[in-house]
Amino acid sequence: MPHDTPAALHATQEKNEALNGQVIFAPGQAPLLAPAYQVFNSVSGEFMAQDIVHPTIGANWSFGQNLDDLGVFWTKNKKPNEAEISKTRTRLEATGRKFLQMATSIETAGRLDDITPLMRIFATYFGEDRPWNRIYWKLADCPGCGEPVKPGIIKHHCGFVFDPDRALLATMITPEQHKIIMDQLAKRETLENKGVRKSRTAR
Ligand SMILES: [Zn+2]
Repeated sequence: MPHDTPAALHATQEKNEALNGQVIFAPGQAPLLAPAYQVFNSVSGEFMAQDIVHPTIGANWSFGQNLDDLGVFWTKNKKPNEAEISKTRTRLEATGRKFLQMATSIETAGRLDDITPLMRIFATYFGEDRPWNRIYWKLADCPGCGEPVKPGIIKHHCGFVFDPDRALLATMITPEQHKIIMDQLAKRETLENKGVRKSRTAR
C-alpha cells in the first residue's frame, strides 16, 4: 500500500495517536495533514529523532548536512537489527565513495589543500592508499632496512623480526632462529643494564 495516500496518512496518524497521544507536527510537516494537527509549539518524539539525524531545512537536503549519510540512524528497537545496520552501512559507504571521488578530482587538479578530514577518514576506512592520506598511517621505520612499516607487524620482508614469539608461533622462523634472536636480545639487555650501572657509579 502506498504510504502517502490520505487513507494511509490517516491510518498512520491513528496508530501514532494510540502510541503517543495526539501527534503534533512541526511546520513544514503539517500542510499534508488536517488543520487540527497544525500546532506549532511542540513536535512528536519521532519527528524530533528524525530531525536530529536528517534536519528539515526546506525542500532540498544539502549534501553533508544529513547525519544518516554518515551512518547515524535512530530506531525503535532496543538493539538495532541486522537489516538496520546493513542499510546504514550501505548509505555510509555510498557517501564515502562520493567523498573519495571528490578527492580524486581535487587530487587531479593538484589542490591538495582542499582535501577535507572526512576524505581522509574515508580513505582510511576503505584502506585506500592515497598520497594525501599517508600521514594518517602510523608508520615506523624498520630497524633492519629503514623502510617504513605498519604497526603490529611480526616480521618484515627484509627479514627483520619484530616479534620473535609470534613469528615462531606463525612458523615464520625456525626454533633455532628464535633461540638466536632471544639470546641476542638477552645479551643486549645485559649490556644496557651494565651501561646504566656504569653511568650511575660515574656520578
Ligand atoms: Zn625491513
